[in-house]
Amino acid sequence: MKIISTALEMQQAALALRAQGKRIGFVPTMGNLHEGHLSLVRLAKEHADTVVVSVFVNPTQFGPNEDFAAYPRTFEADRALCEKEGVDLLFHPSVPEMYPDGASVSLVETALSRTLCGAARPGHFDGVCTVVAKLFHIVLPHVAVFGEKDAQQLRVIRRMVRDLRFPVEIVPGPTAREPDGLARSSRNQYMDAKQRAQAPCLRRALDESERLFAAGERDPRKLVAAMRALIAECPAAKVDYIDIVDDETLQPLSGPIERPALAALAVWVGKPRLIDNTVLRP
Ligand code: AMP
Repeated sequence: MKIISTALEMQQAALALRAQGKRIGFVPTMGNLHEGHLSLVRLAKEHADTVVVSVFVNPTQFGPNEDFAAYPRTFEADRALCEKEGVDLLFHPSVPEMYPDGASVSLVETALSRTLCGAARPGHFDGVCTVVAKLFHIVLPHVAVFGEKDAQQLRVIRRMVRDLRFPVEIVPGPTAREPDGLARSSRNQYMDAKQRAQAPCLRRALDESERLFAAGERDPRKLVAAMRALIAECPAAKVDYIDIVDDETLQPLSGPIERPALAALAVWVGKPRLIDNTVLRP
């Protein structure tokens, strides 16, 4: 596995692979890799000849009161996991390499980021779009894999690829979970044992929405109320939002669910804010 830290070297490597007719699969990450990321690497392998993973903690997607400085940086462990997983190229740029001094051009997403996590994190998805666009220009992938755990991010990236005509196929990767249903996340390690024991309440709330939906409930307010009631049973959990929105526009629903809808929630469990989601399909 080759480790590359400059944009120019990465671009040259990608162009050389393309000249050899190789299909490049790309998994962008912020590092602190876990089984969720590795499942995306395996999926990328199924769709490509060469797999590139990037590890870059992107400053522009963190708000002023968020955990950019404290975000776990574990490059040696990440490198070993990528090597073991058969990753071909590991792109690990510095912040100035991605954001040269005086950088003044960036992307803004104006529709899908208004609700859910975007409402609580202004500018977050602009930062995501900006860094992913840069990474696409540097890695030149044919296909890129994004996790369904970050449902809004996946939809924003798809919209960016459509609107800006990126020649990249976006493949969604199913959410990897702990045995008790908790979605795997770099932030799970910040819970103490008591909080960790309560954290599966996110998945249980989504299971309940799926159960009620399958039984015919179509009123988003009733489904949200049922999810809220389940989360309220966990004293360590504090709801940021629980919402059901149109799966394509991510706009709130004004009536019953008649098209695929995204049920999504963000819940503080102790220090970390955890997210999870499911799609309800009529
Ligand atoms: P991050 O390093 O948190 O920015 O995540 C990098 C990629 O891994 C994103 O596409 C995430 O959606 C994806 N990801 C994170 N956690 C999981 C998980 N538990 N299952 C599947 N994909 C995940």
